[in-house]
Amino acid sequence: MTNTPSPRDGDTNEQDQFLTILSREDALARFEAGLFPRAIASETRPLAEALGCALAKDVVAPIDVPPFDRSNVDGFAVRSADLASAGEASPVRVMLNDEVVACGTAPTRPVLSGTATPIATGGPVPRGADAIVMVERTQPAGPRAVEIRRAASPGQFVSYAGSDIARGEALLRAGTVIGSREIGMLAACGIAQVTVARRPRVAVISTGDELVQPGQPLPPAAIYDTNGAIVAAAVNENGGEAVFLGAVADDEEQLEAVMRKALEASDVLVLSGGTSKGAGDVSHRIIGRLGKPGIIAHGVALKPGKPLCLAVCDGKPVIILPGFPTSAMFTFHDMIVPVLRRMAGLPPRSDAKVNARVPVRIASELGRTEFVMVSLVEGADGLIAYPTGKGSGAITSFAQADGFLRIDALADQMPAGSEAEVTLFTPHVRVPDLVIVGSHCTGLDLVTAPLAHAGLVVRSIAVGSLGGLASAKRGECDFAPIHLFDEKTGTYNTPYLSDGLELVSGWRRMQGIVFRKGDRRFEGLSAEEAVRAALADPACIMVNRNQGAGTRILIDRLLGGARPDGYWNQPRSHNAVAAAVAQHRADWGMTIAPVAHASNLGFIPFAEEHYDFALVKARKQRPAVQAFLDALASEAGRAALEQAGFRPA
Ligand code: AMP
Ligand code: MG
Repeated sequence: MTNTPSPRDGDTNEQDQFLTILSREDALARFEAGLFPRAIASETRPLAEALGCALAKDVVAPIDVPPFDRSNVDGFAVRSADLASAGEASPVRVMLNDEVVACGTAPTRPVLSGTATPIATGGPVPRGADAIVMVERTQPAGPRAVEIRRAASPGQFVSYAGSDIARGEALLRAGTVIGSREIGMLAACGIAQVTVARRPRVAVISTGDELVQPGQPLPPAAIYDTNGAIVAAAVNENGGEAVFLGAVADDEEQLEAVMRKALEASDVLVLSGGTSKGAGDVSHRIIGRLGKPGIIAHGVALKPGKPLCLAVCDGKPVIILPGFPTSAMFTFHDMIVPVLRRMAGLPPRSDAKVNARVPVRIASELGRTEFVMVSLVEGADGLIAYPTGKGSGAITSFAQADGFLRIDALADQMPAGSEAEVTLFTPHVRVPDLVIVGSHCTGLDLVTAPLAHAGLVVRSIAVGSLGGLASAKRGECDFAPIHLFDEKTGTYNTPYLSDGLELVSGWRRMQGIVFRKGDRRFEGLSAEEAVRAALADPACIMVNRNQGAGTRILIDRLLGGARPDGYWNQPRSHNAVAAAVAQHRADWGMTIAPVAHASNLGFIPFAEEHYDFALVKARKQRPAVQAFLDALASEAGRAALEQAGFRPA
C-alpha cells in the first residue's frame, strides 16, 4: 500500500480543492480541528537559555526564600522584651556577645537576656533574638556594651524564613513565558533547569525557478527570495525555531524530495509560492502524498491570500503560503501564528493588537476577508491607522506598516472614521515623531537623514499630493509634500493651501525626456523636437505615467493628443519609467533628472516642478518638525539635494 494516489484520483481531488473556497473562519476551524488537542512537547533547558520559552509544567518552590530569618539592617540582634523600658531618658544597656554575624555567617551563640549580637544586613538572626535594632539608634558604651534609647517591637527589621517565597508554593504556572523576572524567581529558589515547551521546529522552503538568495548576483528576470527571510523571522518571533532550507525550483520530483526530508526532521513545514493554478505550481500536488489527511483548505476567501493552502500530514501542519510576500505575511500572521503559538505552548498574541481610527474610506471586495496594511500615527485623540498598501506584490509597504486591519467578508467598505482593530507585526509600536503624508520624492530621504540618525522616527506615507493635502487639513500629519500646478494662476502649490496650513519651500525638480544614451533619435534635441522625432518613427515605443500624476500632465501637453505605441503603459513612479527605458521595453518617457541620472540615461530637461511642503501650523512647534525645518535649511541638506540633482528653493 502506498500513499500515492493514481493520477486520476489526483486530478479529481485537485478540482475539488479549487472549487471549494472556504471562508477564513471555516478554514481556520478545520485546520485547528485537524491539529488540536495535542500534547505539547517539552524539553529541559538551563535557566540561562529559557528566556522567552513557555513553562511546560507548574514550578513548585523547593525551599523557603529567604531560607532563614534574616536581618534587614545593620545593627544588633536583641530580645525585644529587654528593651521594654528603653527611652530617651532611660537608656538600656546590653552586653555584646562575642561574635559578629556577617552575611553568610551562621551564628553560634544565643542571644541571652541582657545581651545583643552585632549583625549585618542579610545576616541570619541568632537563636533567642526576636528583633534588630539599627546601629544608628545605639550608642557604644565601652568595648563590650551598647546603650539603646528606644523600645523594639518583636519582629522589627526581621524578614522571616519563607516570607518571600514559601516552600511548596506554586511559584510559576505552566504557560508562563519566562522573562527576566521569572528567571529571578527561579534563581532565588536555586532552580538551574526548567521544563519548557519545546519550540516547534519549522522547516521553511521557498519555491520558484525565479528565486535567488540575497547576496547572490541577480540574473535578468530573477528576483530575490523575500519570503524565506520573512517567514523564518516571523516563525522565530512566534515561538518556533525556523530552519530555512533555501529556495527550490518548480520541479515536482526535486521539491518532493526536499519536502519529505524537511517534514521528517521538523514539526511544521511552511512553503511559499506555487500554490495557484499556474503551470509550474506543484507543491500542493505533493502534499497529498506526504501523509493523511492531506489538504484541508486550498483556496480561502482572503484578500490578498486566496491561494493559501493548509494541510495536515500525519499530525504535522503543512502550509503553503501565497507567493507574493505581503500575501504571505498576512496569511502567516492571521492563520498560522495562532496555530504555531498553540503548538509552542504560548498564549495568543493579545499584546499585539491596538485600536485605531481609520481616516479614509477603504473599499473592499464583498465575500473575501480583506487585509489592509496600515501605518499608525498619533492623532489628537488616539491612534490613527493609515492604509499603506501598494498591492500584494509590494514589500516596501511592510517597512511603513505597523500592522494590518481586517475588513469583514460581508462588508464592501470600511467607512472613513471607523474604529478598527489593528494586528501589529511586532509587539511594540513606536509612533513616529515626524509624519509626512503626501507625494513622495527621493529628495525627502536626504533631508530626513539627520533626523533618523538623531534617533527620531520619521514616517513618510506616499498618497500623492491631493491625498496629502487632505490629511494635512485633517491635522493627521506634520506636513504634506505637494507639487500641484494651478492653471489659473500659473503657479505651484500656494493656491492649494487653506486655513491652518502654511507653505514651506522645498526644492525644484527638473522633469524631462529620458532615453538611452547614444540614441540618435534624441541626442541633442529639445524636448519638443525629441517628441516630434519619436512620433515620426513608428518603431519608437514610449512609456507613459498614470492619470493624475503631475508628470502625466506634462507628457499630454507635449504629445498634443497623439497616442503613440506605449501610451497605455502607465506605471505609477518615476523609477518605473527609467527602468522601462533602461531595459529596452520602451525608448523614451518622462521622469525627473535625478532618477534619469541614477540609471545612467540620457536626459532632456523640459519643465521645472516645485516640490514644497504644506505645513500644519498647529504642529509647527513640535521638536521633530523644527528638526526637519532646520535640516531643510541647513548647508548639508541643501548640498545633499544639489548633489542628487535637485535645486533647493
Ligand atoms: P507563485 O504563487 O509561485 O505563482 O508566486 C506568485 C508571485 O510571488 C510571483 O510573482 C513570484 O515571483 C512571487 N514570489 C514567490 N515566491 C517568492 C519569494 N520567496 N520571494 C519573493 N517573491 C516570491
Ligand atoms: Mg512560483
